[in-house]
Amino acid sequence: MKTLFLSLTLIVASLSAAAMPGGDVFRKLNLDGKGLEKVKTAVAVGDTTRAAGELLSYYRSRKGIVLTGIDLDRVKLPDDERMMADEALDHRFFVHYGYQPSFFYGDDIDWTYWPVKDNELRWQLHRHKWFIALAKAYKTTGDEKYAKAWIEQYADWMDKNPLDTTLFRKHGKLLTAEQQALVENMSFAWRPLEVSHRLQEQLTIFAIMINSPAFTPEFLVRFLDEYEMHAGHIMRNFSAQGNHLLFEAQRVAFAGIYFPEFRGAREWLQQGIGILNEQIGRQVYADGMQFELDFGYHMASIEIFLKALRMASANGMRDAFPPSYIATVERMIEVVWNVTFPDGSQPLFGDHKTTDKNEMLKKFRTWEQAFPENRQIAWFASEGKRGERPAYLSHAFKTSGFYILRNGWNAASTMMVVKAGPPAFWHNQPDNGTFELWRKGRNFFPDSGCYVYSGDDKVQAEREWFRQTRVHNTLTLDGADIERTDSKLLYWGHSCKADVVSTANPSYLGLTHTRTVFFVEGEFLVIVDRAEGDATGKVALHYGLCPCEPKIDLADASLETLFADGNNIRLQVFCNRPCTMTSEEGWLSPSYRSKTERPAFSFGCPKPGNAPVEFITVIAPGEMSGSISASLVSGKVKVSIGRRKYELAMP
Ligand code: CA
Repeated sequence: MKTLFLSLTLIVASLSAAAMPGGDVFRKLNLDGKGLEKVKTAVAVGDTTRAAGELLSYYRSRKGIVLTGIDLDRVKLPDDERMMADEALDHRFFVHYGYQPSFFYGDDIDWTYWPVKDNELRWQLHRHKWFIALAKAYKTTGDEKYAKAWIEQYADWMDKNPLDTTLFRKHGKLLTAEQQALVENMSFAWRPLEVSHRLQEQLTIFAIMINSPAFTPEFLVRFLDEYEMHAGHIMRNFSAQGNHLLFEAQRVAFAGIYFPEFRGAREWLQQGIGILNEQIGRQVYADGMQFELDFGYHMASIEIFLKALRMASANGMRDAFPPSYIATVERMIEVVWNVTFPDGSQPLFGDHKTTDKNEMLKKFRTWEQAFPENRQIAWFASEGKRGERPAYLSHAFKTSGFYILRNGWNAASTMMVVKAGPPAFWHNQPDNGTFELWRKGRNFFPDSGCYVYSGDDKVQAEREWFRQTRVHNTLTLDGADIERTDSKLLYWGHSCKADVVSTANPSYLGLTHTRTVFFVEGEFLVIVDRAEGDATGKVALHYGLCPCEPKIDLADASLETLFADGNNIRLQVFCNRPCTMTSEEGWLSPSYRSKTERPAFSFGCPKPGNAPVEFITVIAPGEMSGSISASLVSGKVKVSIGRRKYELAMP
C-alpha cells in the first residue's frame, strides 16, 4: 500500500512538473546548494508549485554573486533607450540602428517578419535589444507596464521560437514545408552568437525584473529552463573561430558564474574561460592586433577579454586568467591608440564603422581602470591631463601589417595609417596597400567603409560595391578585386628625412604590387607604386577623397581640395607610361546603411607584358605652393615642389 502511494505521488509529481512549462528545470538545478533547502523539500514531495515559489524567494534575496557591467543601484535610462522601451510597448522593436524608425512586428508578434532581406535584421531581432531598455525603464520608473511587457514578449518569443535540433540533423532529407520554415527560423533565432547575446543580457534583465510582482514563480521556472537550454545550445555549438567564438565563450562563462545553481554551471565557466585563454593566444597577433584585422572587432575583442576578467575578479576568480592574458589585452590597447585619429575615429578598413571622441574616451577610461599603471592609456583617457604621451611618433605593427606615419599626437598633426598585412577573414576586404590620411582635423582619404553585411541579392550587391578593391586607395589590374592578400614588409625605417614603409603584395597572378610610402620631413607624402610581373592589362591607382568639390586637372593628373578653412591638399600622379586620370563613382559609408557621395579618381595606364608600371603620387599640403614634379631615376625619387627639391632613396 505504501509503495503504491509513493508511486502515485511520483506520477502526480511528474505530471505536475510536466504541466508546468519549464517544470523540468528542477532536475537541471543542484538543489543541495545553500539556501535551496526549501526548494529541495518541495520538489521531493512533488509540489513544484511550492518549489517554484521557494525558488523565486531564493533568487529575490540571493546575495554574494556580483554581476559586473551594470551598477544596479545606479541604473540610468538614456534617451535612446527610453525611446526603445516605449516603442517596444507598441511592438515596435529596436533591432538595428541601421533600420530606423523601428519596424512594427504585429499585435500578435510575428517573429519571422523580415521587411528588408538583410540577414542582420533577422538575426538581431533575436538579440532582443529592447528588452534591456525595458528593464532599465522599469528600474528607473518603477512602472509595472515595462516588466509586464517584457514578460509577455519573452514568453511569446519562447512559445513561437522553439529549438528542435532534431530538425537540423534531418536537414537535407525530406522536411515538410512547415518544418523547413522552422529550420529557417531556427537558423536565425538560435544562431549561437544571438543565443549568447541573450544569455548575456538576460542576466541584467533577470536581476532587475525579478523584483516585479509580474515575475511569477511560473515564469521563473520557464525562464530558468530556457536559460539552461540557451547555455547548453552554445556549449554544443560554439563557432569555429573569430569574434563569435570569443563572444560565446565570455557569455557562457558569465552564465556559469551568475547561475552556479545549475548542474552545468561549472562546465560553462570552465569551458568559457578555457576558450578565452586559448583563443587570446591564437586570435591576437604578437603585435597586439586581433587577426580579423578589423578595428571594430579588435575593440570588441578587448571588451570581451576585459569583461570576462572583471566578472571573474569580482567573484574571486581572477586567477583564472594568467598574467600573459592581461599583458596581451594591454598590447591590444596600444594598437587602438596608434590607429585612432584625433577625432576618435579609426580607418574604416574592412567592415569597421566610425566611432567618435566620446565613445573612445569612455573606452579609454574603462581601460585605464583595468591598467592603472599604464601612463599612455591614462594620457588618452584624460585627453592629455594625466599620464604621458607615447614616446614615439611613427609606429609599425608588422605582423598584422598596419603602419602609422605621424608627426604628432594632437588634432593639428598629420597622420597616415597604411594597411598591408596577411590574409584575414570575412570582415576583411581585398584592399591591401590602402590608407587613410588625416591632417589638421580632416580625414582627406577616408576608406569607403562597408555599408551592409549580408542578405538577399540586392543587399549582397550593396555590400560587394563597398568591398571592391577599386574603391580603396590602392592599385588594381583591369579594375578587378585583388586575387591574393598577403603583403610582406620590405622596409620600415627612417632615411632621407623621411619615415618610410615599403610593402609588396602578390595582388594578381603575374602582378606584384609594391608600395613605398615616404612621409617627408613630417610634412608631405610621396607614394611610389610599382606593378611588376608578366600580367598584361590596365593598371590603375585609385584615390577616394572626403566629400568635397576639388579642383581637377585631368591633363596634369592632379587635383586640389578647396576647403575655405585653408586646410587643403594637392595630389599629383606621375607615371613612367602615358597615364589617364578618370573621375570614378565614389561613396563613403561611415556607418551601417548610411552613405554619402564623394569624389574618387583613378590614374590608369596599359601594362604590356613584363614591363613594370611605376607611379609616383605626391600628396602635399596646400601651404606648399608651386608646381610639383617627380621622377624615379636609378633607385632615387626626385621630387620638387615649387623651389623645394628632394631626393629620396628607394629602400
Ligand atoms: Ca573598406
